[in-house]
Amino acid sequence: MTRRTRKIALEEHFMPRGFQNYSKTFTKLMGDSAQTELASRLEDFDRLRIADMDNAGIDVCVLSPTAPGVQAEPDAKLAAERAREANNFLADQISRNPARFAGFASLAMHEPQIAARELQRSVSRLGLKGALVNGHTLGAYYDQPVYDVFWETLQGLDVPLYLHPIDHWQVPVAYADRPELAGAVWGWGVETASHALRLLFSGVFDRFPKLKIILGHMGEGLPMLLWRFDSRFAVYSQGVKLERRPSEYFGRNIVITTSGVCSHAALSCSLAELGDDAVMFSVDYPYESSAVAADFIESAPIGDDVRQRVCFDNAARLLKIDTTQKQAKIA
Ligand code: MN
Repeated sequence: MTRRTRKIALEEHFMPRGFQNYSKTFTKLMGDSAQTELASRLEDFDRLRIADMDNAGIDVCVLSPTAPGVQAEPDAKLAAERAREANNFLADQISRNPARFAGFASLAMHEPQIAARELQRSVSRLGLKGALVNGHTLGAYYDQPVYDVFWETLQGLDVPLYLHPIDHWQVPVAYADRPELAGAVWGWGVETASHALRLLFSGVFDRFPKLKIILGHMGEGLPMLLWRFDSRFAVYSQGVKLERRPSEYFGRNIVITTSGVCSHAALSCSLAELGDDAVMFSVDYPYESSAVAADFIESAPIGDDVRQRVCFDNAARLLKIDTTQKQAKIA
């Protein structure tokens, strides 16, 4: 298959120094050789990563630390220091190859004011394109009013927040004796979708109408359910008031990537529900195959104008990636 459409991919991970222990919750489930292979890919910014991008026709990868990162650090001060170090490290790596890499900041969300300041520094001084946060912090969700200072900063900077999966803070009873359900197969998606819905139903998008939240994994399954959110919220709102129907925040405030869901049917549903400006190609490197993801999007039964938007234009616009400069450098 020719991989002819230019691509930006935005859920592509690396391992900052000192973050390895945070990821042990899931890396320990892999065999030794798989762990070694994963580590070599997460730590590499050169040979392996660039060859993989070239093979898949990916022009630009927007890099972020792999989950759960500083969201799993119990010490708030240490989390803030690690986030700062990771952001400086990422900015250095991007400066070595600015035509092919951009980045999302890590943020310790333990203290919203500190997260807001680090976001400001990361975007204004380091040139990062927004932030990627791995879900809740030690069970705290960001719909709490104390986080409004963070949302105000994000909106003011006009950059998106990628809300990436993490383990449930407490394993739900529904997964008892079924550990395979708690992680990437199901639980991570439910956890992340629930967090996004908390933001929506708590009115964060009414208070900050220009916010952009990115959900991976084809919107963590939410695009299939928009009609039902409207229909049942109209009956069971329990006194909650929103300025719009729940479905209307999708596409407007919540946009999605195709990371880790290479299904044409799921893509068609997402495009139909959210619009073709709200869906963006991604891989979830190195957990997923860039080649499989590229073949999936290149063979999708959509018009080439839509493919171009999904693969490149939507991300370039949202992240303000200077496409003329990139093109010149790649050529
Ligand atoms: Mn990921």
